Amino acid sequence: MDTLISLILPIYNEGKNIEELYQRSRAVLEKTGDYEIIFVNDGSSDDSLEKIVALSRLNSRVKLVDFSRNFGHQIAITAGLDFALGDAVVIMDSDLQDTPETIAEMVAAWREGYDVVYAKRRTRQDGFFKKATAFIFYRILKKLANIDIPEDTGDFRLMDKQVVSEMRRLREHARFMRGLTSWVGFRQTCILFDRADRRHGSTGYPFGKMLKFAIDGLTAFSHIPLKLAGIFGYFVAVLSVLGILYALYRKLFYPAEVISGWTFTIITVLFIGSVQLIFLAILGEYVGRIYTESQNRPLYIVRQTANLQQEEKKGA
Ligand code: UDP
Ligand code: MG
Repeated sequence: MDTLISLILPIYNEGKNIEELYQRSRAVLEKTGDYEIIFVNDGSSDDSLEKIVALSRLNSRVKLVDFSRNFGHQIAITAGLDFALGDAVVIMDSDLQDTPETIAEMVAAWREGYDVVYAKRRTRQDGFFKKATAFIFYRILKKLANIDIPEDTGDFRLMDKQVVSEMRRLREHARFMRGLTSWVGFRQTCILFDRADRRHGSTGYPFGKMLKFAIDGLTAFSHIPLKLAGIFGYFVAVLSVLGILYALYRKLFYPAEVISGWTFTIITVLFIGSVQLIFLAILGEYVGRIYTESQNRPLYIVRQTANLQQEEKKGA
């Protein structure tokens, strides 16, 4: 039986890369069986759209989703997943940093029975700043996140259609796709690859966008930042009790040295301060819960059932 592989390519001003990207991807995909290449044009301002349209005229397996404006990389990938028809779907960056040749290995691992095959960077060619910030980010994420998100892994991955259909149910706005793929579970494995340098053009992730992306990733999978006020609050509250005891001690044992009104002022300030922090912590707990509820993820995801009706498969 011939399998269909969908390749999703998010495009933001990649005009100079599209031809090589297409040729190399097609060469690999033709060997794996039937395929479709879905270009998601994320509001490019260069000639990307014309190039994709030209390719789609030459090859009906080339498909286009053209956004009305720039919605961002993670949303572009999401749209690709929504439209993909494949038995397996591959997501890849379009600047040739992710090497299309790696897809062959991913497909092989999928045929062995893995549902998610992510490509982990053995080496990468980015600048020092990018490498350093990414290194730190993935380590912090590993520590704080409430699920295991593989480090040094971008969005370059293959997913079985069952995983894709579960991913489609996740509609949260601040999307961190690499975290969500870990979150849905299934049999996951990684293959190593050497990440190339961006072929042409410049990054679609300048510092501000990168920072926002990192914060999206952390907050989508961890409440620890919210809990910081609380942790800090309890710590300060303990110190305040000591401060209040000290103020009383001065008042009782060295009354002559204490300026009139000092004891009352200090006690009030410390008391109110710690009460506020503790209540912030309580608010933080509730905000965290509201956040989780509003993400509205399914409660569970079923891989398979036996002797059950099909309708009952769909969790939550
Ligand atoms: N991208 C996108 N929308 C954006 C920014 C980037 O679709 O707003 C695409 C981009 O065309 C590329 C992928 O996302 O295919 C990764 O972006 P980029 O290579 O610029 O990021 P970097 O590798 O520098 O982190
Ligand atoms: Mg890149």
